[in-house]
Formats: sequence, structure tokens, C-alpha cells
Amino acid sequence: MQLSGRVAIVTGAGQGIGKAIALKLASYGADVAVVDINLEKAEETAKEVKDMGRKALALKVDVSNVKETEEMAEKVFTDLEGIHILVNNAGITRDGLLLRMKEEDWDSVMNINLKGAFACTKAVLKYMTKMKWGRIVNIASVVGVMGNAGQANYAASKAGLIGFTKSVAREVASRNITVNAVAPGFIETAMTDVLSPQVKSDLLNKIPLGRLGGANDVAMGVLFLASNASNYITGQVLNINGGMAM
Ligand code: NAD
Repeated sequence: MQLSGRVAIVTGAGQGIGKAIALKLASYGADVAVVDINLEKAEETAKEVKDMGRKALALKVDVSNVKETEEMAEKVFTDLEGIHILVNNAGITRDGLLLRMKEEDWDSVMNINLKGAFACTKAVLKYMTKMKWGRIVNIASVVGVMGNAGQANYAASKAGLIGFTKSVAREVASRNITVNAVAPGFIETAMTDVLSPQVKSDLLNKIPLGRLGGANDVAMGVLFLASNASNYITGQVLNINGGMAM
């Protein structure tokens, strides 16, 4: 799987899964725009990409802000000379049981996880359709497939992302642009560090492969969907969850 000559945008790539994806794509030859709301962390990832001999841009973007995502796409297209791959990875949780969930916790999760993917995808499609080649990978979640008590907002955003993936896949297939989703299970990152040891051990009992996932497990799936190896795959959800949902 070679990505030389490709330019990728990875959102939320300042840390965690997004960072692992950015470094994975770079290690297979892609130049990478590292997009995050946290510029300092984006710059750290971008430095690691450059250390691999690839071109990198660190951009401070709030993915839920349409204007910022349009400016992002224009800058990447101009400075890195193309946009071939978009990974919609930026995401947040604001957990709580529905009866106690605040309106702002619903809205912020929807805005970043779902509207963010809408904004970034719309912004880059303008350029991908011109090039007649594109790979879009949306990072959903096992929770969007199975549901999870205490995560109604997050699960709805990730299930929404799956519907979004399939619809856009149908719209842009004729332009040789594929749109797929990856649904990770429980992956060891800052997002899951907050889980109590009890919750983690309960989770382990539900994972046939007997361990939480690593960011690299997800990055390998994204690499496949971003490369020519997956040319005939679109509108699909790749579950990377140790067998938790099958
Ligand atoms: P993380 O919290 O470690 O990293 C998320 C990154 O997104 C951070 O760098 C953060 O600054 C950035 N971000 C947040 N809001 C943003 C915004 N408005 N605009 C731009 N960037 C923003 O999370 P992670 O565990 O690496 O998760 C990455 C993705 O994978 C998320 O979409 C998450 O829902 C999904 N996911 C994670 C797990 C898991 O177990 N960790 C499981 C399934 C899905």
C-alpha cells in the first residue's frame, strides 16, 4: 500500500487515534495536513511527519465551523498541491444518562462529531471531484452500531456518521471517490483513560480477543481504506473492535 504523491487531511490529529493515523499515512508516503483545535499538539504531530521526510501542515481548525473548514481545504490544496484523502477523526464525548443530559452536551457532541464531518467533507469534495480521485474515511464507533447507556448523544452522532457515509458514498462514487467508515471498539487513548478499572475489566469480558485496542489497530484499517488496495470498496463500515460486535 503506497501513498506517495497523495495528500491527506486528518482531523483531530494532535493526539490519540488521529495522530496514529497521520503518522501511519505519512509512513506510507503521504504528505499530511494535521488539523486540530489544539494547534500546539497539531504542530507536534506535524513535526513527526516532517521528520519522516514528508511534507506537513499544522492547522488550527474547529471542524464544526464551516468557514474554517473551507479555509482549511483551500490552504491545503494550495500549499500541499492537492487533497486526495480526508479522515474525519475529530470527536468528543460528553457522557451522561439521557434524563440528566444537558442540551449543550447534546449540541456540542453533534456539532463536532457529525456536523464536523459534514463541513470537512463538503469543503474537500470541491477539490476531489476536480481530481476524479478521493478517499474519505469517517471514524465512527462500535457505540454507533450497538448503542451504549450513558452515551445517547455520542451514539447518535456516530450512527449518524454511518448514514452520512453511505449517502455520500452513493453521491460521489461516479467521480472515483470512495467514502467508508471505521467503527473502532474500545481503544486505549485519552478518551478511554477516564474509564474506571471496573468498567475496563467489564469491557474486557465482552471482547473475544481479550484486550482493548491500540490506536495502531485503527490506523491500519484507515490506511487500507485510504489506499488503492480498497479501490472497489465504498459505503462500508469496517469494525475494528476485537470481535466485540459481530
Ligand atoms: P482524543 O480525545 O484522544 O483525540 C481527539 C482529538 O480531536 C484531540 O486532539 C482534540 O483536540 C481534537 N478535537 C476535539 N474537538 C475538535 C474540534 N472541534 N475541531 C478539531 N479538532 C478537535 O480521542 P481519540 O480516542 O483519539 O478519538 C479519536 C476518534 O475516534 C473520535 O472520533 C472518537 O469518537 C473515535 N473513537 C474513539 C474510540 C476510543 O476508544 N478511543 C472508540 C471509538 C471511536
